[in-house]
Amino acid sequence: MIKKILPILFPLLITLSLNAQQVKVLVPDRIFDGEQIHEGWAVRVENDKITEVGPAKEITQRYRGIPIDLPGTTLMPGMIEGHSHVLLHPYDEVSWNDQVLKESHAERVIRAANHVKANLMAGFTTIRDLGSEGAGYADVGIKQSIQKGIIPGPRMLVAGPAIVTTGSYGPKGFAPHVKVPLGAHEADGIDDLIKEVRRQIGGGADIIKVYVDYRWGPYGQAMPSFTQQELDLIVEAAASSGRQVVAHAATAEGMRRATMAGVKTIEHGDAGTLEVFKLMAQRGVALCPTLAAGDAILQYRGWKKGEEADPPRIVQKKKSFKQALEAGVTIVAGGDVGVFSHGDNARELEMMVQYGMSTMDVLKSVTAVNSEIFNLEGFGQIKAGFYADIIAVEGQPEKDISTLKKVVFVMKGGEVYKSKN
Ligand SMILES: [Zn+2]
Repeated sequence: MIKKILPILFPLLITLSLNAQQVKVLVPDRIFDGEQIHEGWAVRVENDKITEVGPAKEITQRYRGIPIDLPGTTLMPGMIEGHSHVLLHPYDEVSWNDQVLKESHAERVIRAANHVKANLMAGFTTIRDLGSEGAGYADVGIKQSIQKGIIPGPRMLVAGPAIVTTGSYGPKGFAPHVKVPLGAHEADGIDDLIKEVRRQIGGGADIIKVYVDYRWGPYGQAMPSFTQQELDLIVEAAASSGRQVVAHAATAEGMRRATMAGVKTIEHGDAGTLEVFKLMAQRGVALCPTLAAGDAILQYRGWKKGEEADPPRIVQKKKSFKQALEAGVTIVAGGDVGVFSHGDNARELEMMVQYGMSTMDVLKSVTAVNSEIFNLEGFGQIKAGFYADIIAVEGQPEKDISTLKKVVFVMKGGEVYKSKN
């Protein structure tokens, strides 16, 4: 009797056990694995990991599992946003000052719940969120809520409140006797800074963010803030705990100091010179150009893009970005999303191509390169052993970068969050 039943029972048991293990076989038209394109490949996912990648025929014949057919698509690693602010929304809706001063933390967190979901659905399965902008450690709580499955969202690296020098950061424009809550934490000098770096680490910051310069020059222009000695100390204190320092820097001198101190990435870098970019390349400091942020802000101020000539700030940005490419600086993709709409993250990737980066390099930047620079082991590539953070886009992104706006499938840790089927 047993002998008769076994042949019938055996395949059934295998199927049942495979389903219990959550085996999924994804079959797109092609795969971008973080480095190159493979036509006709498929991916096998077991639980939260990728277990095999290769020609679709081999994978589908060899394995049973839940098939997920994705015709007409390119499968690629979940994208990694290099610079977000989930606690901000576009400044043409509400100015930055008013968001910091007039919106309750409750409102900001509820908005953030919508923002993180929009990031995930746009194919960004990890985001590096660089500062809560006055909302303290709310970003730590949002990250934990996603981890606990309370709300859908990407994996997050968070910076907490961030650090600025006394007197440099906003909101500004108030009488000296009026105390306003700031968009970041002020700290200066050796003792104060080392304590603040450690406090932010203790509070849950994965990264230390510092503003190496800010618009506090005599004419409101960007000028350096922290001294070299202060920056060296910040990097030393953060590195001791295994954390990276990220520097907001727009001036060449601010960028030079941050580079000498050994920060991991420089954000913005608008007035960077060929000389400073060469120094960054030499010392292994990456640039997160945030092209879309300046572009958005100028349009909020009335610039009619496409109809009017480029304002001086855009002319300068195009020039410095080209110089960074020429100097061989590693470019991490990050748009400062929050300044513009969450979910519209790919706007930065389109602009990187428009400003002179090759499409393939942009694809690598937003996946494998970001993962490597941010120390995200097991992410940013479609490879056996990597986490199953996988998206599918309609069409061929290596031919048209705008395809990255057509995300039809999102998987994070083996779980499907978005699917056409
Ligand atoms: Zn920012």
